[in-house]
Amino acid sequence: MAKPNKKGPTKTVDIFCAKCKKQLFKYRKGGKGALVKCFKERISVDLTEVVCTCPNCQAVFAREMLIRGTPAFKMIGGKVFVK
Ligand SMILES: [Zn+2]
Repeated sequence: MAKPNKKGPTKTVDIFCAKCKKQLFKYRKGGKGALVKCFKERISVDLTEVVCTCPNCQAVFAREMLIRGTPAFKMIGGKVFVK
């Protein structure tokens, strides 16, 4: 296992709306496995207009929350997919 980099993950994934396939974020995701939450500071490109809402089909795909004091989005299961 590689040690976590202090600068955070450098691998960028694209996050899409599961309903209409519109891209929502480019996100620097750490680790492997399903995307459960997004830290706002790791979103490199935000393509949404209304927070947590798909700009194309208006589906709400996440909820804003704090994770250990850090602003984040908790993704709603099945609303997004990652490539
Ligand atoms: Zn959509």
